[in-house]
Amino acid sequence: MADGSTTEARTGEQQRIARQEAARLTAEGVHVIALTWVDNAGIARVKAVPTARLAAVAHRGVGMSPIFDVYTFDDYITASPHLGGPDGDLRLFPDLGRLTVLAAQPGWAWAPVDRYEQDGTPYPACQRQFARRMADRAAAAGLEVRMGFETEWAVSRPAPDDGFDAACAGPGYGMTRVVELSDYVRAVAEALDAQGIEVLQIHPEYGAGQFEVSTAPADPVRAADDAVLVRETVRAVSARHGMRAAFAPSVVAGDVGNGCHLHLSLHRDGRSLHRESGAPYGLDLAAVAFLGGVLDALPALSAVGAPSPASYVRIVPSQWAGAYRCWGVENREAALRLVQGAWDDPDGGNAEIKCVDAAANPYLLVGAVIAEGLNGVSTGAKLPPPVVGDPGRLSEPERRERAIDRLPTTLSEATGLFERQEVLRDAMGEVLHGAFAAVRRAEAERSAGSSPEEIVATTRWRY
Ligand code: GLU
Ligand code: MG
Repeated sequence: MADGSTTEARTGEQQRIARQEAARLTAEGVHVIALTWVDNAGIARVKAVPTARLAAVAHRGVGMSPIFDVYTFDDYITASPHLGGPDGDLRLFPDLGRLTVLAAQPGWAWAPVDRYEQDGTPYPACQRQFARRMADRAAAAGLEVRMGFETEWAVSRPAPDDGFDAACAGPGYGMTRVVELSDYVRAVAEALDAQGIEVLQIHPEYGAGQFEVSTAPADPVRAADDAVLVRETVRAVSARHGMRAAFAPSVVAGDVGNGCHLHLSLHRDGRSLHRESGAPYGLDLAAVAFLGGVLDALPALSAVGAPSPASYVRIVPSQWAGAYRCWGVENREAALRLVQGAWDDPDGGNAEIKCVDAAANPYLLVGAVIAEGLNGVSTGAKLPPPVVGDPGRLSEPERRERAIDRLPTTLSEATGLFERQEVLRDAMGEVLHGAFAAVRRAEAERSAGSSPEEIVATTRWRY
């Protein structure tokens, strides 16, 4: 509709594509299509439709209650000023451009959806459309933002009481783990490749049974879609190998957790703004301002990027989770790490936001980061001197002097900062902002008084 075509022409075209796609999928033996969106608790929710219904769904969408926007990670239902209660219905429209045959779920395909009101207007709490609006806003400011997530997970054998029992014993980053789980790791890489996801790296991580996969940069909406697809693929491959994958921020309280770091790079007219010759750190002034805006906003962004009670079990100093608001060049303890890349790679420079995890709704996270980066550009934000070494090892007065703040240590602290952050309220709009804050409040209240072990036990298999 944004291209000026009429609704009828657009839906007619969508139906034509859907009919072609349905024929192709049927020939490939696909019977069911999973249509997903991610709610404010960071959980991918689904409606599935038979392949034969794809054209009808492309035309009129699929119904779904808006109440999921006030669901918490444990399926408790809260309410916000605009959303809650049993009334109302939405129409879910699959993005046919992302229709993907699922390599580890024979007979299934997948597509992400955009959510609309029954009268065809965009649903104001649709997180995926929020991400697209923010990417469009960046484009209108002459900036192209490329993004990519690193997915970390811990793989477990089935264990009593929904516990965790690492499925491999080898050391962190050790080849032993790749030998122990050779077929499994290969199957993950193969499935992602078959689904058109470009894997950059796949390797064992530090934590018990922990692995990571990083994927190629893409436009922000595609990057968020990829994060969903990567996670569900890893989950499906794990199940087919008789194992379970935990993406939760903390899998064993006190151990290193799972991050889901967000990489971003800025470009103008196809040129990287991380490769400005003669500029400090190679950063064009617009990139400095964008990253400065993100850095300033990290405390409020915590509610979006680290939204679970379990996020605050994970995000502690000296675990490479980025517990302090600071940036550094290739500093893995800084919440914002400037990645230099190979000297002769024109697109190698990027920035990594480390204080974020897989409980985050990836669409909200990419959108919120762009909103804050663009705010930095319009206010002329700056970057302070970079931090070298672990900021946790500086003395308290040194940190205070350099404004290296500890990021929020509880979900309620992060939520309070989010609620007061006007940039995010304006960007998200009252309906989405209010529903998101209500879910954070409910999750904080429901976990108040719980020990880290209890929080980890209730969140371990939810994301
Ligand atoms: N597992 C760490 C985290 O919680 C990240 C390790 C790394 O730098 O990749 O974010
Ligand atoms: Mg990692």
